[in-house]
Amino acid sequence: MRAFKAVGGTPRFVRRAQGAYMWDANGQRYIDYIGSWGPMILGHGHPVVLEAVQRALLDGFSFGAPTEREIELAEAIISRLPAIEMLRLVSSGTEAAMSAIRLARGATGRSMLVKFEGCYHGHADALLVKAGSGLATHGHPTSAGVPPEVVQHTLVLEYNNLQQLEDAFTQYGSQIACLMIEPIAGNMNFVRASLPFMRLCRELCTQHGALLVFDEVMTGFRVALGGAQSLYAQHIEGFAPDLTVLGKVIGGGMPLAAFGGPRAIMEQLAPLGAVYQAGTLSGNPVATACGLATLQELGKPGVFDALAAQTRALVQGLSAAARAAGVAFSADCEGGMFGFFLLPQLPTHYAQVMGSDGSRFNRLFHGLLQRGIYIAPALYEAGFVSAAHSDADIAATLAAAAEVFSELSAT
Ligand code: PMP
Repeated sequence: MRAFKAVGGTPRFVRRAQGAYMWDANGQRYIDYIGSWGPMILGHGHPVVLEAVQRALLDGFSFGAPTEREIELAEAIISRLPAIEMLRLVSSGTEAAMSAIRLARGATGRSMLVKFEGCYHGHADALLVKAGSGLATHGHPTSAGVPPEVVQHTLVLEYNNLQQLEDAFTQYGSQIACLMIEPIAGNMNFVRASLPFMRLCRELCTQHGALLVFDEVMTGFRVALGGAQSLYAQHIEGFAPDLTVLGKVIGGGMPLAAFGGPRAIMEQLAPLGAVYQAGTLSGNPVATACGLATLQELGKPGVFDALAAQTRALVQGLSAAARAAGVAFSADCEGGMFGFFLLPQLPTHYAQVMGSDGSRFNRLFHGLLQRGIYIAPALYEAGFVSAAHSDADIAATLAAAAEVFSELSAT
């Protein structure tokens, strides 16, 4: 992503960032819609967060012993996510997802893992896998260095495909330790798991004794203060995942992530239980200060609603500008996260996302970049608005987009 491999051209080297803006090494300013891929939900250098980090830093960077702030952060997270009773802090989303899978396997005594094409859960070996041809053939590694035996327990299915999910559980139900899913898949830009699909995920996991693991590294505290799970709980009676994986926003831009769930499952982790997990920098005092200040600010009355309204204004404005220029376009958003496609209708799974026209997206990307608007440099990445994005920033973005859309429609 950073190398602009998908879009071509020279990546921008960032010198500094403040609020909604980043400046590159040439002094060019950009309105930032990446926000470090999600964490910077308050914008860069929020004064309250900066002060909390500076204060924590003076007390020491890392102790390798418990701190009160870890508990405070865990409580701040748990108070918003009722599905989590106990929580383990780690340092990256990759580590959190990897550890949640180990816990699910340890807790169920099973090996198989179900994931969906287009969902990213970090780069643990067992997750670097693409679908085989049909259910009978298991996945293939997508990275050199991953032996085929390591992914033999990973089943990759199509997102939002109810029949395939049903078939997979019919065939392998008693072997499945967990089903891991991005409930709103930000790693294929912005694709929601449909309500019937999510209901089926929950039912099949319960019926077959598998754990439903929500990867909310991107969506946690981003699409709603209660995460994507709170949105599904509004529509599905009694809905909750078994385990939740968090990252990004909960660290406010510092290396911090977490996973959690019911006490009975979490107590199977070391040191109480037999599932090993550890980390030298876990619960780092500077990272927890940053995350805690971020969540406290974000939770203040009106902050999240204003962010959501600003994101909606952006998405509605982009849609209107594309329509006016006659460019095929679809877009969606939730809270401070958005996605758009140069497709007439929102896609529901990975093949549709990747079927959109990459060269047109690249022209859109570079057209915006030249005008000082920095969106994700690939058509399968989500966008992020921060609480620091002003009406003027949104208006400037829409004016730039209108110009780029008319260039696109002219050819
Ligand atoms: N899960 C999801 C949904 C993610 O978006 C990401 C990173 N983009 C990860 C896991 C991995 O997190 P990290 O990059 O912190 O290892």
